[in-house]
Amino acid sequence: MSAEGKFTPKMIGIICNWCCYGGADLCGVSRFQYPTYIRLVRVMCSGRVDLKHIFLAFSNGADAVFIGGCHINDCHYNPEGNYDALSMVNLCKKLLEHAGINPKRLRLEWVSAGEGIRFANIMNEFGREIEELGPLGKSEGIDSTELKLRLEKTGKLIPYLKLAKMKELALHNHDQGMYANLYTSEEVDRLIREAPSYWIDQEKCRACMTCAKRCPVDAIISAKQQTHIVDQEKCIKCGTCLTACPPKFSAVTKITGKEVPPPLPEDKRTIVGKDKENAA
Ligand code: SF4
Ligand code: SF4
Repeated sequence: MSAEGKFTPKMIGIICNWCCYGGADLCGVSRFQYPTYIRLVRVMCSGRVDLKHIFLAFSNGADAVFIGGCHINDCHYNPEGNYDALSMVNLCKKLLEHAGINPKRLRLEWVSAGEGIRFANIMNEFGREIEELGPLGKSEGIDSTELKLRLEKTGKLIPYLKLAKMKELALHNHDQGMYANLYTSEEVDRLIREAPSYWIDQEKCRACMTCAKRCPVDAIISAKQQTHIVDQEKCIKCGTCLTACPPKFSAVTKITGKEVPPPLPEDKRTIVGKDKENAA
């Protein structure tokens, strides 16, 4: 809040080095005014901005996020990163919607290095819009604890959603209009509802360690002669362990729509050799 009690949003602008940053620079040199509460972060390409960066910004108190890139077909890289940004932002808007957040809080625009006035106009317009909306959560009717939980819960599914929508996220289609319909709220809601969990059957696991070696995020609690466990907090639901577990053990199960059984305590996970089993 300002001294007059007026809401001052916290806004982050993530803008590409080659075009939008040039536009912002020209805007400054030309002394065009725009709200000082918009903080800019320079990245090499708008295509480098990830869903998790946007969720991180909102989780850390941003009321709005702006992404600025080069105009379509002007990207300095090949393949063109601004198509990636376009697809990612459209998916992100659906994820925000799923979390109950107004998708208008995320905006993507193309600004060239020669468009200082356009940069200022967009910033002024976006700033006004967010001032009217109010603090994150307020226009949505969500309190801060619930908001944090929702952002955390949806944010955790980002790697899984990126895998599920890999084809769409890599799409480079010159018809920009089609990106708005690339994802539907229904399919995103369904994907989230049906997000699987991976679980290791303690009766079947023989501690061969194959899954732990292949897991890309070290989400498998692994020790010699101990049945393995998936750390559900760390697991990104890639399914690698399911395919990696040798068929003769088939110890990994994909679970959808049900709670994952709790893990066994460590002292119950030791694998007893056949000789010892027979002797017992
Ligand atoms: S699903 Fe992927 S991330 Fe999760 S435990 Fe298996 S290999 Fe690791
Ligand atoms: S690959 Fe299968 S048998 Fe081997 S440790 Fe993992 S879950 Fe257990």
